[in-house]
Amino acid sequence: MPIDTNFEKSRRIVGRHQNHNVWGPVEPPEKLGIHGTNVAVDWDICEGDGVCIDVCPVSVFEWADAPNHPVSEKKSDPAREEDCIQCMACEEQCPVNAIKIKTS
Ligand code: SF4
Repeated sequence: MPIDTNFEKSRRIVGRHQNHNVWGPVEPPEKLGIHGTNVAVDWDICEGDGVCIDVCPVSVFEWADAPNHPVSEKKSDPAREEDCIQCMACEEQCPVNAIKIKTS
């Protein structure tokens, strides 16, 4: 199941991580929510493929640990989402459609 592109309406902000919002529900270790708003990564879908980290031309992402998460114990974190230039490479290449880039 891909990221819910309507997450800003269907979810609530439950915290901050690095310099971005975290959208709940967050109930570790199984539920980790969506990290970021302009560059949003659904950590419950992310399987730690890492293509987003490889293709991003401005190094928005970095690895984060997710101990005991059932899908992957490492996640792509949009640590510098404010640097995004909306090239869309990460959203297009994510194998599990875990990323949504805000374009407006
Ligand atoms: S849309 Fe492009 S610039 Fe923005 S986070 Fe994804 S790969 Fe990086």
